[in-house]
Amino acid sequence: MAEKKKMSLSARILIAMILGAVTGWIITLLGNPDWAQIWLTDGLFRVLGQVFIALLQMLVVPLVFVSLVCGSSSLSDPKMLGRVGGKTVALYLLTTGIAVTLALTAAAIFQPGLGASSPVSTVQRQIAEATPFTQVIIDMVPKNPVAAMATAQMLPIIVFSVLLGIAITMSGSRGERISAWFQDINHVIMRLVTLVMRFAPYGVFALIANLAATSDLADFAAVGKYVMLVFAVLFLHALVVYPTLLTLIGRLNPLVFLAKMRAAMMFAFSTASSNATIPVTLETVEKRMGVSNKVASFTVPLGATINMDGTAIMQGIATGFIAQFYGIDLSLGQYLMVVAMVILASIGTAGVPSVGLVVLAGVLTQVGLPAEGIAMILGIDRVLDMTRTAVNITGDATVTTIVARSEGELNLDVFNDPDAGESYEEAALEAGSGA
Ligand code: ASP
Repeated sequence: MAEKKKMSLSARILIAMILGAVTGWIITLLGNPDWAQIWLTDGLFRVLGQVFIALLQMLVVPLVFVSLVCGSSSLSDPKMLGRVGGKTVALYLLTTGIAVTLALTAAAIFQPGLGASSPVSTVQRQIAEATPFTQVIIDMVPKNPVAAMATAQMLPIIVFSVLLGIAITMSGSRGERISAWFQDINHVIMRLVTLVMRFAPYGVFALIANLAATSDLADFAAVGKYVMLVFAVLFLHALVVYPTLLTLIGRLNPLVFLAKMRAAMMFAFSTASSNATIPVTLETVEKRMGVSNKVASFTVPLGATINMDGTAIMQGIATGFIAQFYGIDLSLGQYLMVVAMVILASIGTAGVPSVGLVVLAGVLTQVGLPAEGIAMILGIDRVLDMTRTAVNITGDATVTTIVARSEGELNLDVFNDPDAGESYEEAALEAGSGA
C-alpha cells in the first residue's frame, strides 16, 4: 500500500498535550471569561476529557477478566503461578519501599516545610479513612464476583479470574473449548483497546487544556519547594531506580524500555488513574516489550492496585513537609512507621485519581501528625497526581518485564525491536483485512 508513514501514537499524544497546555494558557491569559468557561472548560473540553476516561474505564473490567482467565488457563505448570506471584509481590514491595525511603530522605535533607506559606485557595475535601489491612485480605475473595466486577474492584476480580482459569485447565476437553472461546474474546477486546486509543489525542488535549485553564499558579508558589522536591524524586525513581533494576536484575536495556513506555506514561499522566491506564499498560508490555499474556495479565492489574511508587514518594515527602511546617520532629520509630504504613496502605487502595491523598490522611494520623496539614497541598495535588501515576505504571511495567524475563516469558526479539507494536492502527488494519 503506497501510503505515507503515520505519526506514532506517542508523538500524536505529545502534540495534543502541548496544544492543550497552550490552549488552557490562552484561556487564563484572557482572564477565564464566562464564555470560555461555559463552552470550553465546562463544555466541550469537559465532555471530551470525561468521555475519554470513561472509554478507558469501560475496557478495564472486561479486559482484566478475560485476559487473566486466558493467562491462567494457559499455564502448563500450575507452580508457575505461585512463583510469578511471589516474585511480583516481592518486587512491588521492594520498589515501594525504596520509593518511600528516598522520599523521606529527600524531605529530611531539603526541608521543604520550612518557609512554606499557606496556599491562597485551599480546597475543602472530605478525608476518608483508609481500609484496615486485615479487611483488605478478607475483601480479596469476592463473595459475589458479579458485584466485584460491577464496582471494578481489582483484587477480587484477579482472585476470581485466576481461580476460574485454573479450573478451566483442570476440566479436560470442556475446559479446552472454554479456553478457546476466551482466547477469541481476548483478541476482540484487545482490538477494542486499539479503537479507543485512536481517540486518545483528542481526549488528552481536552484534559490538559482544562487543567491548564483552571490551575492557580499562586498556590504552587506557596508550596513551591514541596512541589519541586516531589517532581525531583519522581524523576529520580523513574530514571535511575527502575533502569538500575532493569539492568541488574533483568539484564535488559533500560533505554529501550523507557522509550517504549512513552505512550503509556502519557495516558497515565492525562488520566491520573493507574486503573484506567491498565488497557494501555497491558498492550504496551505485551505488544511492545514482548511479555507473554500469561505473566502480564496477572502482574499489570495487580500492580495497578498494589504498587504505587509515585504515590509513596508523594506521601513520604508530604509527611516530612507537614511535620516541618508544624515544627514537629519525627523520631526514627515514626519514620519507620511511615515506611510501613505507606507500603501497607498502598496495597488496599485502587489506582484512581487522588486516592494517594486519602491514604496520606491515615498515615499522618497514625504517626500523630495533624491531618489538616493536607489542606496545604490539596490545591496543587492534581499535577503531582498525574505525574506520580505515570511513575506508578512505569513501576508496574518494570516489575512485569523483569519477572517475565526471569521466567523465560519475555520475547527478546520483540523487546529489542524499536518498532515492535508501534503502530496500533496498522495492527488493527491488518486484523481487519483478515491477516
Ligand atoms: N492516581 C494514582 C494512581 O492511579 C493514585 C494516587 O496517587 O492518588 O495510580
